[in-house]
Amino acid sequence: MSEPLQPVIVGAGPAGIRAAERLVRSGLRPIVLDEGQRAGGQIYRRPLIDDGRSYRSRYGSGAGKAQRLHQAFEALLPAIDYRPETLVWNISAPERGNQLDILSSGVHRQIGFSQLILCTGATDRVLPFPGWTTPGVYTLGASQTALKAQGCTIGDRVAFMGSGPLLYLVAWQYMKAGARVEAVLDTAPLASKRHLLSLAAHAPRIVALGLFYGLQLQFAGVKVRHGVRPEAVLGKGKVEGLRYRRRTLKGERVETVTCDALAYGFALRPETQLADLAGCRFRFDERDRVWLPERDALGRTSRTDVYVAGDGSGIAGADAAEISGELAAVAMLQDQGNVSTDVARLLASREAILRERDILERAFPFPVDWFETVPDETTLCRCEEISVAEARRAMTAGSITEINRLKALSRVGMGRCQGRMCSAAATELLSGACGVPTGEVGRLRAQAPVKPIPLGFGGGELEARS
Ligand SMILES: Cc1cc2nc3c(=O)[nH]c(=O)nc-3n(C[C@H](O)[C@H](O)[C@H](O)COP(=O)(O)OP(=O)(O)OC[C@H]3O[C@@H](n4cnc5c(N)ncnc54)[C@H](O)[C@@H]3O)c2cc1C
Repeated sequence: MSEPLQPVIVGAGPAGIRAAERLVRSGLRPIVLDEGQRAGGQIYRRPLIDDGRSYRSRYGSGAGKAQRLHQAFEALLPAIDYRPETLVWNISAPERGNQLDILSSGVHRQIGFSQLILCTGATDRVLPFPGWTTPGVYTLGASQTALKAQGCTIGDRVAFMGSGPLLYLVAWQYMKAGARVEAVLDTAPLASKRHLLSLAAHAPRIVALGLFYGLQLQFAGVKVRHGVRPEAVLGKGKVEGLRYRRRTLKGERVETVTCDALAYGFALRPETQLADLAGCRFRFDERDRVWLPERDALGRTSRTDVYVAGDGSGIAGADAAEISGELAAVAMLQDQGNVSTDVARLLASREAILRERDILERAFPFPVDWFETVPDETTLCRCEEISVAEARRAMTAGSITEINRLKALSRVGMGRCQGRMCSAAATELLSGACGVPTGEVGRLRAQAPVKPIPLGFGGGELEARS
């Protein structure tokens, strides 16, 4: 007789941990799958080997929250079926039952689920510029991961570029860790920071922290520039600097910064591929310029038994992720008819955070005009080595107005990352070329496997289980 199916949570970050905690409180024993070696997710990422650093030195002002979340997870371990280093790479279509394809310790398996909560988080949103594939260029998130998980920096003399609160935070963390921060190059105009004044009324702590980071960087002599557009990464074979333009009151200036590593990014993009493969309906989010799974206030998607929470359901930050994880678990329990929790307080707290996020997005805006200054020869899709010019030629030759058509005719987004790196950029390029809003060029359909899996995983290693 086969065992009854269990609820499954994908992702052991803030959202997944709080979802698991809520289910355990109601007497369930969820399976928690995470491709990482240790629970905590992105913001509260833990080192692979304990390196003796304190919570304070690793997580700064988030130390208390990180410690509470890690402790909560440790306490859950006897009550959950936790499977680290387990990649979920596919979900069956609704008509084929509730099955996940997972890869764990090199072994491929299928597992069934009674209900599924997707807490898959986010990764950096990147845009191409000349030289962005040069060794020594990292995403902001990756540069922070090096610090948190490996206890090392990406270089000795590092420059940071992009838009988003992470830009200043990671630069400050690098300075504190002893790296020489050569420059903070903000692609947003200085004037955009005036929006932080209205944030101060709602979230004074966030604004005070941001000011603290900015001022400490400035006092340490770090060059902080606004309205930046990169022109070229300098150096052959490795980063030796960056040439950039910036808008000043007196017009444009071209400047150079010398560095041996560059970290850059433009806020985050949600990891939504599993929700897509699950057949969930999507909607376009104007603020984040991205397609998100449709969900109700608690996280129910259009597919029965599938829920979404955390940044994978829309970028809102770690505090909101914890709340939405709990809400998704409550939704699941409600749908089983066994909980009557008052969620008004949780909803109100998340609403307040979302209002703050709206202001932050205005203070750290996405550079909507990016492709106006990106030269044709720049690589757009690094997996398939497709340049901006090749993509533009395909658009013109094929009269393309839809992103999946662009993929079919140019191979942009067809490589091993499945468009996770380039689809945001390709979408912006196409919408610019067509002169239509980003949401009108469609959504790159997800394909399994959602992340690269080793060739030859099957055969003798295939172990199917339901
Ligand atoms: C690199 C990076 C650095 C960040 N740093 C900061 C910071 O310093 N300060 C800040 O306020 N915010 C930061 N953020 C944002 C913050 O991390 C998120 O808001 C928060 O972690 C969201 O929590 P979550 O549970 O939704 O997702 P996450 O914390 O991202 O957790 C998602 C989990 O899902 C797992 N997962 C995803 N897909 C799969 C799959 N297919 N199979 C198995 N497991 C999977 C991942 O391994 C991960 O553990 C950062 C984000 C990123 C991407």
